[in-house]
Amino acid sequence: MTIAHWIDGTDAAATGEGTSPVHNPATGQVIEQVALGTPQDVDRAVAAALAAAGPWAASSVSRRASVLFRFRELLVEHTDELAALVSREHGKVVSDARGEIARGLEVVEFACGVPQLLKGEFSDQAATDIDVFSVREPLGVVAGITPFNFPVMVPLWMSPVAIATGNAFILKPSERDPSASLYLARMWAQAGLPAGVFSVVQGDKRVVDALLGHPGIAAVSFVGSTPIARYVHATATAAGKRVQALGGAKNHGVVLADADLDDAVNHLVAAAFGAAGERCMALPVVLAQDEIADDLVARLAARVRTITVAPGDQPGADMGPVITRQAKERIEEIITSAEQEGATLVVDGRGHVVDGHPEGFFVGPTLVDRVRPDQRVYREEIFGPVLDVVRVAGLTEAITLINANPYGNGTAIFTASGEAARTFRRSVQVGMIGINVPIPVPVAWHSFGGWKDSLFGDAHVYGPEGIAFYTRGKVVTERWPHRARPTAGPAFHFSGDAEK
Ligand code: NAD
Repeated sequence: MTIAHWIDGTDAAATGEGTSPVHNPATGQVIEQVALGTPQDVDRAVAAALAAAGPWAASSVSRRASVLFRFRELLVEHTDELAALVSREHGKVVSDARGEIARGLEVVEFACGVPQLLKGEFSDQAATDIDVFSVREPLGVVAGITPFNFPVMVPLWMSPVAIATGNAFILKPSERDPSASLYLARMWAQAGLPAGVFSVVQGDKRVVDALLGHPGIAAVSFVGSTPIARYVHATATAAGKRVQALGGAKNHGVVLADADLDDAVNHLVAAAFGAAGERCMALPVVLAQDEIADDLVARLAARVRTITVAPGDQPGADMGPVITRQAKERIEEIITSAEQEGATLVVDGRGHVVDGHPEGFFVGPTLVDRVRPDQRVYREEIFGPVLDVVRVAGLTEAITLINANPYGNGTAIFTASGEAARTFRRSVQVGMIGINVPIPVPVAWHSFGGWKDSLFGDAHVYGPEGIAFYTRGKVVTERWPHRARPTAGPAFHFSGDAEK
């Protein structure tokens, strides 16, 4: 069966012939084909979205909220099914797939509060007999282009906020794990969302390019790797669109000598190897203060050796496969380069074979010590289960390294010192900071976003910045002539009331 599109509130066949294989990464087998959409598919989706956007924007904010509430209930009810679908195409363990749904659900719940969030501002008697009020209006049709690593959560970072604020939303999911997008589409329809307000066009660069240049689309949200984020930002802004493009990462976790090492080790191992390291908020680099580095590496190694690598749907699995055979080969090549460039391979995950799954895309958890910033294993975003340890003299050197890195998505510090933590959070050029918290993904009523090469555009996603991104301001200055106080005549100067 070919996985195709969702346009105008229903399944839509592809117009082109092209497809791309979808694998089960645990078995290495092709399990489905996904349609590679065409510009014509994008035209159809935009036409349906444009027709739907006006009436949806005009519907009452409480009606929109009620659809969001029903969608929330369906998401809760179907979490297990959706998690199984994600695990099957992505490879992550089912409990982690449930976790990503829970984080997406949080954004849906935030968007349920849209009547409060869009309340606007009012200044009574801003000048004599004049009131001023500000409202936020939807943009129209907006697009979301999402990565493979969170096929539910990232579309839910965008779509509930876009839809609640009165826009029509077109999703271009990753072609590697496309099924969750259609599952979400059906739930939106079941929740009572009018046809055309949420659409899905499957595909690759061709569909992305058609969306970026389409005159019917007002704004683009992108999450993916840095080179593509940069391209999407440049292309869509040149086409006059509002753009937020979130890119890759290489997040560093600092462990100072005064940290609770048992606590830090548990967090670091989970943050580096959860989802096989395929998270933009993973912590693939530890900056270990010299005094405790030997001890920390010994503890990390002991813990890393206990990680159970298995298919994501197997009970007891801590970590599943990576997404593709090419990803596995690239990760193993980077591990080899680390060894060749003089780093110390403490735990080597190359050639890891899981019983009964010889063709699965598994890479074992890998711990590399005495990594230097000039080595490939440090320089590149690996997006796999590889943890680098870089030894540092102290906080100053750690901050210098973090700020020299081109990425600025997330970072964390493990310490017992409030003074060190405060210096750290004030000095690092990074968007999201954890203090004794390894993966500081903000809750839905704050906003998510990195700095530097981790985000192109100004607005972070979801939370208050998401509301601002999907709306534009309108300010009304209002006066009703007073029969009892007629104006004396025209006033030709520009003035504020205070001068009168
Ligand atoms: P990717 O950049 O390869 O793909 C992302 C999207 O862009 C997909 O929908 C894909 O079809 C499309 N795409 C791919 N190549 C394209 C091209 N040449 N032109 C136009 N569109 C193209 O990313 P991925 O491998 O799916 O996801 C992993 C990356 O995403 C990592 O770099 C990770 O750090 C990043 N990521 C970032 C965040 C964040 O919040 N900053 C969150 C999740 C993932």
